[in-house]
Amino acid sequence: MTDSDELSPRLDALRGDFAPLLLAWQRAEGRHHLPWQNTRDPYRVWLSEIMLQQTQVSTVLGYYQRFLARFPTVRELGAAPADEVMALWAGLGYYSRARNLHRCAQQVCEQHGGEFPRSAELLQTLPGIGRSTAAAIASFCFGERTAILDGNVKRVLSRLLAFEGDLASSAQEKRLWRAAEALLPPAGADMPSYTQGLMDLGAGLCTPRSPQCLLCPVSALCAGRAQGDPTRFPIKTRKLKRGRRENWWLWLEQGGRIWLQQRPSEGVWGGLWTLPLFDDEAALLAQARRLGGGEPEALPRVQHALTHLDWVLHPRRLALAAAHDLAPPGPGQWVARERLADYALPAPLKKLIG
Ligand code: SF4
Repeated sequence: MTDSDELSPRLDALRGDFAPLLLAWQRAEGRHHLPWQNTRDPYRVWLSEIMLQQTQVSTVLGYYQRFLARFPTVRELGAAPADEVMALWAGLGYYSRARNLHRCAQQVCEQHGGEFPRSAELLQTLPGIGRSTAAAIASFCFGERTAILDGNVKRVLSRLLAFEGDLASSAQEKRLWRAAEALLPPAGADMPSYTQGLMDLGAGLCTPRSPQCLLCPVSALCAGRAQGDPTRFPIKTRKLKRGRRENWWLWLEQGGRIWLQQRPSEGVWGGLWTLPLFDDEAALLAQARRLGGGEPEALPRVQHALTHLDWVLHPRRLALAAAHDLAPPGPGQWVARERLADYALPAPLKKLIG
């Protein structure tokens, strides 16, 4: 399928009207009061864009303010110890974002003199900044005419165009990128409101299961709606197969301290501090017997949903006598309860021991 087939007439029909309608709606009814709006500071826009990937606005608000209070500029973030960045990020999930955030700040300082590059093309060369995030920063901060295509915008545009291509295919995704570029408004000065308008439409009206077509500013142009069932789009056939994993967690306490281990920097919970993990209960009990603290207390299991995985964790708690001096399993350290806030803990662990 090429752009000279059914997509071209649809794009032609939209081109003159879509951007003006979206712009007028965004200016009158879109979101204007989020703390990262009304700024052209690429540091703030970048920080918010990274936090908003896979995380809701209501959750991001507090984290955004805390990060800015602690790291008011990209230089301060770049100069901070990685552990401190991870600790401040703890609870937001998808920790590779925090590692890339820190690396990106360092690169901006080392390779760009502490200033973010001013084009989407160059922004994409930085860690953790993909094509859509780069476009969002460049359009918000520098008025560059460049298209975003995050998950929400894919949904809006594929409905608007009744886009039959399967977005599991990279060729079809590229085709949608080209359509997104064809719809951009002609003036760079309109780009911040246009980009925000697409985001607002996807987040507020053109939602996954129940799009509010009656309230939508572009409903008269929407081919998906005209066909009767816009929720048929986007089309994506390849479903992620979710796995299931089970582990046993040994919660060792001694005199107000907890034994924590740092996870390897790559992989699930990379770089975070957790309790020792075991593949089965027998291995955990053998370790507990070696430490001689008696039978560990079985606590209710913890369910944790990761992108591709349902993770079930079975915590077992064991209090060791103060005089006990056998080394707990693996490399790790005793952390006093009052110092836990200095350590980046995954959210389920924080909840468990907090
Ligand atoms: S008319 Fe409905 S389906 Fe089409 S863009 Fe608007 S909200 Fe989405």
